[in-house]
Amino acid sequence: MAQAGPPQELVFAPLGGVGEIGMNLLIYGVGNERRRQWLAVDLGVSFAAEEHLPGIDLILPDVRFLVEERKNLCGIVLTHAHEDHFGALIDLWPRLQVPVYATPFSAALLAAKCASEPGAPQIPVNIVARNSRFGIGPFDIELCTMAHSIPESNALIIRTPHGAVLHTGDWKLDDTPILGDPTDENKLRALGQEGCLALVGDSTNAVREGRSPSEADVARTITDLIKSAPRRVAVTTFASNVARLRAVAEAAHAAGREVVLVGRAMDRIAQIARETGYLDGVQEFRGTDAYGYLPPDKVVALCTGSQGEPRAALARIAEDQHPDVTLSRGDRVIVSARTIPGNEKAVGRVLNGLIEQEIEVITDRTHLVHVSGHPRRAELEALIGWVKPKIVVPVHGEALHLHEHAALARKLGIKHVIRCRNGDLVRLSGDPAIIDEVPAGRLYKDGALIVEADARTVADRKRLSFAGAVSVALALAENGELAADPELDLIGIPERDREGNSIAQAVQDVIIEAFQSMPRGRRRDPDSVAEAVRRAVRSAIAERWGKKPMCHVHVLPV
Ligand SMILES: [Zn+2]
Ligand SMILES: [Zn+2]
Repeated sequence: MAQAGPPQELVFAPLGGVGEIGMNLLIYGVGNERRRQWLAVDLGVSFAAEEHLPGIDLILPDVRFLVEERKNLCGIVLTHAHEDHFGALIDLWPRLQVPVYATPFSAALLAAKCASEPGAPQIPVNIVARNSRFGIGPFDIELCTMAHSIPESNALIIRTPHGAVLHTGDWKLDDTPILGDPTDENKLRALGQEGCLALVGDSTNAVREGRSPSEADVARTITDLIKSAPRRVAVTTFASNVARLRAVAEAAHAAGREVVLVGRAMDRIAQIARETGYLDGVQEFRGTDAYGYLPPDKVVALCTGSQGEPRAALARIAEDQHPDVTLSRGDRVIVSARTIPGNEKAVGRVLNGLIEQEIEVITDRTHLVHVSGHPRRAELEALIGWVKPKIVVPVHGEALHLHEHAALARKLGIKHVIRCRNGDLVRLSGDPAIIDEVPAGRLYKDGALIVEADARTVADRKRLSFAGAVSVALALAENGELAADPELDLIGIPERDREGNSIAQAVQDVIIEAFQSMPRGRRRDPDSVAEAVRRAVRSAIAERWGKKPMCHVHVLPV
């Protein structure tokens, strides 16, 4: 008889997306500590705020653990095609090379993304139908339609020999979502009847009371705003929010206007939405070349750039840098999006630029021109009531959101509420608990490269941007004297001190002084010389400037 080994169990670990909104990567495991088979759900990115991480475009989850466990990783299922859920696939799939499962719209978006990125890998995607049920290794997976802010957001019902998990993905309740089906309440209630071991769920809006308004409410506001506009209208939103694109198109049509798409992401999504049927019955969009000859009261420009991205359509229009599309006094701009935390300054810059030109700017501060795609407290409460899970694990949120979601679940009588962090290994079956840790962390996309988050480059860049750098070259003769005057280069350092004296000259003197105060024997050792000069230069500059720059000393024996 085979050795029994430790009992089989169901575990779960977040490798990203817990304690932050973004970079979602959660894994489920069946087996025991000797061997587990894994299923990964989503592989997303976070966007880096420029001032914190100079030169870094994206933050990706560290997949070290999955690379180690690659032979036991059965596949990756995508819940939906938002960047925080699928944006890291192109960069990280080559390290994993396991099958990817996605519904048609998500698969089409991934294919379009790969096609637009030179050098993107060929990712084999198993396209699965919405609401379908399929097996991946020991995991029996059923998709459950959820309303969200992109077509085809799916919760996963993951059935295992040790119980069923509801992995909610991103969701909300919306009886009139404009596009696609509402959240599948019947299927969720049926899961509650069948028995749900754990609910692993979206916490984004757990701090907000009540229920979120519907996409249809937003559509009504946008219709009124387009109808009442005296001149041109521009609407900016996330291109992936196809329901919103549809609402704008229908509102424009009702007002006798045509829609001009501005921005590559808009063109790309519109094409995919046409191909997948999500724009059926909507009049054709026009290219930017049509903008110039359409009368001001006959056009709506649908633009990218809702986050203030400097190269996107709205910023270029605001600065009058767009070749085809212009706005002027009396035109109306509708910002049909929320500002993602970290982008406030960039968005403010664009909107202020528009307002300076006497263009009317309408945001969700005064009008219902945007709703979130995430559940508020009454929606979370409804879901827990339908599914009746034994365990609730809050994910997809910062500490505050996770905490509020956990508190709400406890208030509703859930016995096991597990507050975990990225890298915690959580046992769901048997006696639920955090039982171990697995490697987790972050990677940075730095230009064309993926680098470790603790690599020195980014830290160096931050120091450079704060305090500049000094580069010193010394020619060291065999007799232990300098063969020439030091060569000096100051980068990003003020030229003169408070008294008006040259800092470069002072540094030059300090170098010679530091060198000559060394015993002759040590002067012949290039490393000792470099270190002594480096210290002297940094403190000499700190004395005059109040900041310590980076300093590199090259000692060349001649
Ligand atoms: Zn998300
Ligand atoms: Zn989402």
